[in-house]
Amino acid sequence: MEEKYFYTWSTQKGKNHPEVTKAQDIYIWINGKKCYDMSSQAINVNIGHKNERIINAIKRQCEEMPFIGGGFKSDVRNKAANEIINVCPKGMEKVFFTSSGSEANENAIKMARQYTGKNKIFSAYNSYHGSFIGSGALTGDARRFYSEKGVSGFIKFKYPDKYHCSISFENDEAMSKFYLLELEEQIKGENPNDIAAIFIEPIIGGNGVIIPPDGFLQGIRELCDKYNILMICDEVMTGWGRTGKWFCIEHWGVTPDIITTSKGITSSYIAFGAVVVNKKISDYFDNNPLMCGATNYGHLLGCAATIANINEYKDRNLIENSRELGEVLRERLLNLKDKYDCIGDIRCKGLFACIEFAKNKETKEPNNDIENIIPLLIKNGLWTLSRRNIIMIAPPLIINQQELLDALEILEKTIKEYFQKISMKY
Ligand code: PLP
Repeated sequence: MEEKYFYTWSTQKGKNHPEVTKAQDIYIWINGKKCYDMSSQAINVNIGHKNERIINAIKRQCEEMPFIGGGFKSDVRNKAANEIINVCPKGMEKVFFTSSGSEANENAIKMARQYTGKNKIFSAYNSYHGSFIGSGALTGDARRFYSEKGVSGFIKFKYPDKYHCSISFENDEAMSKFYLLELEEQIKGENPNDIAAIFIEPIIGGNGVIIPPDGFLQGIRELCDKYNILMICDEVMTGWGRTGKWFCIEHWGVTPDIITTSKGITSSYIAFGAVVVNKKISDYFDNNPLMCGATNYGHLLGCAATIANINEYKDRNLIENSRELGEVLRERLLNLKDKYDCIGDIRCKGLFACIEFAKNKETKEPNNDIENIIPLLIKNGLWTLSRRNIIMIAPPLIINQQELLDALEILEKTIKEYFQKISMKY
């Protein structure tokens, strides 16, 4: 049958999109070949594929009552909200449900503007925050171009990138200080009285697991407090144990005013997301009407999936697993980096890692051919995401040490094979 649907972020013709015919735990079968899913499908399926507990929770909820409108009281919605708040950093008070990460960021923008009465929104150049008009304009990378047309008030700042920065700093503190001073100048130049919020991915995800220098996120919190700006952490990709903590911002002991999330909230068994706000913001809306809503608000299947998913994270110690195996992963990747000239950098926090390929280790000239390694990876039994010169390593958090090491074996073998094939030094 002729295909009548669009593929995302891609030309529609001339690409040979592989087909997934089966998925189970940490594996997907691509065109019939069993592969480790080292992407968790865009860092979504944290719990692995076909988890019985989540499937049964959704089935039960569906039989009981699949949906009821956003203006009604609902036990399951309230239970999901409480479970989310219980694992969030302290100080979070209330949840607004959404159906995606983009939608979470859209609503966070609106809430921040309404609460502060201010307009401008800051975000980093190399960020990704979503694909709608608001969340697309909030995005810093090139995916923003079609969203930002005619949209005003979105200001971009530079996020410190240790590997690519052309200035060398003595230590993290010095680097953070430099970037924070630059940001403060920008805040002053844009009029702090008209800046509602600074959005930040605590680790830049889709653009290559860019881990900020220590002190940077604490410094953003201080700038927000100094200029009465809300700090909004986009934990759509980094939340739910991905980096070895429930939420990534906890690594730096910072409490934002708002957290946006999606993906690992239900491990994508249902399209779902959330905006979690602190008490100040929650109290504000007690007597000011919240100007946010959606027909599918707080979908009960999403709420049931969230509760079951959080219980799975807890009962199977998956956050700890991510933290512990993250160390194994980091060590192995560092070993690959030492061994092979084609690897410029590796970055890893928990089970969230990327390999950045370079044509030259010294000049760091990127090797943008890397997308072509994917068919070879599939042939050898591994699937992951790639963009430009980067491949991501982010398996479901249920993976065990032996499986991780086996998958990394496949990765190493494929890197060797690929660089031999394109006659490049590896
Ligand atoms: N924010 C971040 C950090 C993301 O990585 C993504 C998606 O990858 C989004 C927002 C958008 O989420 P969604 O694709 O669910 O709309």
